[in-house]
Amino acid sequence: MSTAPLLRAWQPRRLIVTRSAQGFAHGRAIMDRAASLDIEVVELPGDRLSLALPEDSRRAYAEAKATLAVVVAPPSKRRLQPIAPSADWRVDLAEGCPAHCSYCYLAGSLKGPPITRVYANLDEILAGLPPYLGQGTITSRRDDRAHEGTTFEASCYTDPLALEPLTGSLSAAIRWFGEWDVAAQLRFTTKFADVAPLLDIPHHGRTRMRASVNPRAFARFEGGTAPVAARLVALRRMADAGYPVGLTIAPIIAAEGWQPAYGDLIDAIAAQLAGVTGLDLTVELITHRFTAGSKAVLDSWYPGSALDMSGQDRVTKRTKFGTEKQVYDAATMRALRSFFEARIGDALPMARILYWT
Ligand code: SF4
Repeated sequence: MSTAPLLRAWQPRRLIVTRSAQGFAHGRAIMDRAASLDIEVVELPGDRLSLALPEDSRRAYAEAKATLAVVVAPPSKRRLQPIAPSADWRVDLAEGCPAHCSYCYLAGSLKGPPITRVYANLDEILAGLPPYLGQGTITSRRDDRAHEGTTFEASCYTDPLALEPLTGSLSAAIRWFGEWDVAAQLRFTTKFADVAPLLDIPHHGRTRMRASVNPRAFARFEGGTAPVAARLVALRRMADAGYPVGLTIAPIIAAEGWQPAYGDLIDAIAAQLAGVTGLDLTVELITHRFTAGSKAVLDSWYPGSALDMSGQDRVTKRTKFGTEKQVYDAATMRALRSFFEARIGDALPMARILYWT
């Protein structure tokens, strides 16, 4: 079933590099790769990201999204945060994403113009992980996840596969975890599909790749990402290369026709993964939600998007941080959850559902 599609890698219009980032070999390697692809490389004289963006907000958005910055992650950013329910800890290789999803959760988390920043001091980031071993709250409390060891999630603030052709950060992290002889797992989820550089890395099963998927009918909400069919082919190739794999079905959107749309998606996944030897498959189920802040940003980035954020069929949920988000109401949640659990149980009986939220 798996056939590798021809994929065009994302390329920024320009790469800007802070002075400190130029002092790291990883930063310089990214500069060299960009230069070899004829991408404009701007070496900043200091560490402030100065980018003169147009006044017009649409053009400013487009300029920012077309820019990749190479910066140094300061110690405050290298202090890991717990990130339940996905993983024990969040580890950031980059911040920001070049795609244009009209529900993007980064809109509520990252401030300022949406410039993607990749970290030049990758070695320092990875060297900071060992003290967190055995400290997690997810894998230590869950029998079904304990065998994975302490888990580190690399997709909280970025899509690391989107940036991989230019940065090589994800490959380096996978190799690093592969050499690390402890119970630990690197995790990433992606809406991109060019996994070719990852297939031959000696990963030793210590990285779980998940494909973030939605039905083709909802592709209009996911501008700039790889087609869902290509993401599933990528997942199959990773599984065949011996990686543990997973599905992040997210965000689950209860728009008209959601049942046949998600049913077809689950059937397509089952067909794509049929016959994988020793398949280790997890599923994460995340319903669509938004905050007043993320809605305001998304409305300005994607005016006219057909994604419903009107508040219909929603209730307000208070988070443990005291903020409020809009989630589907109880009846909608019940209908969605029972549908997904039943369909996944039927079509993918070997899959472990890690959580529903
Ligand atoms: Fe946001 Fe993920 Fe879409 Fe990137 S791929 S824009 S991180 S939702």
